[in-house]
Amino acid sequence: MKAQRYIVAHRCGSGCVWLYAHDDCPNCGGRLDPTRIPSDATVISHTVVRVNPSGAPVQLGVARTTTGATTLCVIHGDIRGNGRDRVRLLSIDGRFHAIARGSRLEDEG
Ligand SMILES: [Zn+2]
Repeated sequence: MKAQRYIVAHRCGSGCVWLYAHDDCPNCGGRLDPTRIPSDATVISHTVVRVNPSGAPVQLGVARTTTGATTLCVIHGDIRGNGRDRVRLLSIDGRFHAIARGSRLEDEG
């Protein structure tokens, strides 16, 4: 699992950006087109789910991209949890993962 510098999102003519596909922009009703945005994001909230089917603790968080689009994500790597942790988002099978900056999972390229 390697984070890339860009992810695919959806942008309307008014500049609203969404990480998930919608028929029309939920804000303004405009048409949405695929767009590449930087994968850089900030974890603005997080929690640890200790009881789950995997048996191992899982970090879940809300990450906000530099475009303002937010998503729920699974966090990989160490974060401080102060609302300012920088991560890179990675989409796998329609779910977002946040890779902590500086972790071994982050792509240098
Ligand atoms: Zn819009």
